[in-house]
Amino acid sequence: MAVVVQKFGGSSVATPQKILAAAQRAIDAQAEGNQVVVVVSAIGKTTDSLIALAEEISRNPPAREMDMLLATGEQVSIACMAIAIHALGAKAISFTGPQLGIVTDSSHLKARIKSIETAKLREALEAGSIAVVAGFQGIDEKYDITTLGRGGSDTTAVAVAAAIKLAGYDVRCEIYTDVNGVYTTDPRIVRKAIKVDVISYDEMLEMASMGAGVMHSRSIEFAKKFNVPLMVRHAATSEVGTWVVGEEAWMREVPVCGAALAVNEARIVLDALPDRPGVSRAVFAALAHVNVPVDMIAQNVGSGGKASIGFTVMHADLKKATETLDPIVAELGATMTVTERVSKVSVVGAGMRHVAGVAEKMFAALAANGINMKMITTGDIKISVLIEEDVPPPDDDDDAGTKKSHLDAKRAVRGRLALEAVHDAFGLHMPRTGAGVAPSGYRPRTLSAVVPEARERETAVAKLDGMEDILVSGVHLSTDQSRVTIFDLPDRPGHCSTVFNAVATGGILVDMIVQNITAPGKAELSFTVPRGDLARALKRTQDVARSIDPNCRVVGDADIAVLFVLGVGMRSHTGVARTMFGALAAKGINISMINTSEVCLGVVIERTHAEEALAALKEAFKLS
Ligand code: ADP
Ligand code: ASP
Ligand code: MG
Repeated sequence: MAVVVQKFGGSSVATPQKILAAAQRAIDAQAEGNQVVVVVSAIGKTTDSLIALAEEISRNPPAREMDMLLATGEQVSIACMAIAIHALGAKAISFTGPQLGIVTDSSHLKARIKSIETAKLREALEAGSIAVVAGFQGIDEKYDITTLGRGGSDTTAVAVAAAIKLAGYDVRCEIYTDVNGVYTTDPRIVRKAIKVDVISYDEMLEMASMGAGVMHSRSIEFAKKFNVPLMVRHAATSEVGTWVVGEEAWMREVPVCGAALAVNEARIVLDALPDRPGVSRAVFAALAHVNVPVDMIAQNVGSGGKASIGFTVMHADLKKATETLDPIVAELGATMTVTERVSKVSVVGAGMRHVAGVAEKMFAALAANGINMKMITTGDIKISVLIEEDVPPPDDDDDAGTKKSHLDAKRAVRGRLALEAVHDAFGLHMPRTGAGVAPSGYRPRTLSAVVPEARERETAVAKLDGMEDILVSGVHLSTDQSRVTIFDLPDRPGHCSTVFNAVATGGILVDMIVQNITAPGKAELSFTVPRGDLARALKRTQDVARSIDPNCRVVGDADIAVLFVLGVGMRSHTGVARTMFGALAAKGINISMINTSEVCLGVVIERTHAEEALAALKEAFKLS
């Protein structure tokens, strides 16, 4: 018998009628011959109201007590859901996260799941009950209640599905929400966005971590790691939603399948850093130690013995980040500049690995709308651009609520413009094979094709230990790349687009791109191209750079190697960068360029150290 895990988001259980409708869906799935687990979020906007309540009492509520408070939201909804299922004539039993045995670490408000006990769940299912599980919450080893971060009920649902799968069941997971599925971008922001039929785990992971709030990114990590097929669909209709599954060849037919916008980030630039091994490690290890996830990291080639690193953190973590970095920056004799409010626009697509000109198209669309790019990073299947918000943050003695909505509205204008421009440039409003539209006759690998291997149930819990640990699946070395760097590029809209247009019209495939703001008004842009194309890329770049500003310096470097660590959760796990940079620093290997995405962390080093670096990383990540 198959197990279906159905997750209902806050809006899908916002009223008693909606709770009853969700309960009916669970009963229908059971009547179809499945065993059913329902995971619920807090009713409507309860979590927001609880946060507002705490903020009215204190400006700085302890994280432990916030978790105690926030977890109550989901406890209300599991009870209501179980009551509804009983009222409709079926059997149900509800469990809080702690009751079920969802054990997490102790990072309050952003806890990670360590293990899930399935005994009670299995008992309930075998007894013919629908098991109703509270999303978003767990318990740490000290028996303190924890929560998984906003939107975390998705992660509970997929993690529970993974745990059941490991206990030997055939399982699928359905995410019920207030949209028909995953769209090419947030349909609330871009009206022309369309629903996609199928998307790969990696694409969804990048989309979610780039700001597509439809799913919690860590839930996709679980889905990928444990190969749990997911469907995102509307709670109020019977329309088929979006499958999230493993990557297949047809998904690479177009370069871009989606775009996303993330707001509420902040940028930190560390300048005049000594350009020597161990410096990046010191910075990111310190942030990892205080559990501040770093989002985009862009480090460019150092010049004159100095390097600069730019990166973003969530605005909410900014204070903690700067306080942590202050002493390190002082010790290194560097400087720190903070941009309080930045937004990030990204495009994602498995097909961009093999297509030239994707970056150029994106940059041109932004330039045509007068939008300046403050930082660029690329991954295997995504390109992200940081946009500065020119609105000052609300000040404390004003009415915070009014100011905040004013600020959000203003910010949304710039972000929406950028997102619309990019969505249009890639024609994402047109349904096409590859852009999430499956070829005719395509069937997602059906659920029964994902039957887990039979396992001893008693050992399943042990195997889940550390289920949310970093999954690094491989380290790759590329020694056939070379790099072009432009120093002192004037920081104005359109220049990057002009440069990449010149390179793309030469048919040259650009792989990694890093752009960072160095001195005020000056940007540094580096990109890698196949070594055989270096001379041509250099010539084209020099010509175009000279036409932009005769003071730009263009430098080529053929003696580089690019190392990639691949896996899932590269960024949301603060420790990946720390381990990677630490392993290289321990061998005295200097990093001259860094680039991040959710599924890949890339660094550029001198080619003479390539093999030694590869071996060091394999050892650090315990890969053979
Ligand atoms: P739930 O309460 O069900 O978890 P969420 O609000 O977390 O719902 O997620 C659903 C919302 O995600 C949608 O209403 C939509 O506005 C937003 N969203 C953002 N990006 C996307 C996208 N690419 N596709 C679909 N929805 C998106
Ligand atoms: N109720 C929590 C939140 O609003 C968790 C969730 O909805 O997924 O963030
Ligand atoms: Mg959600």
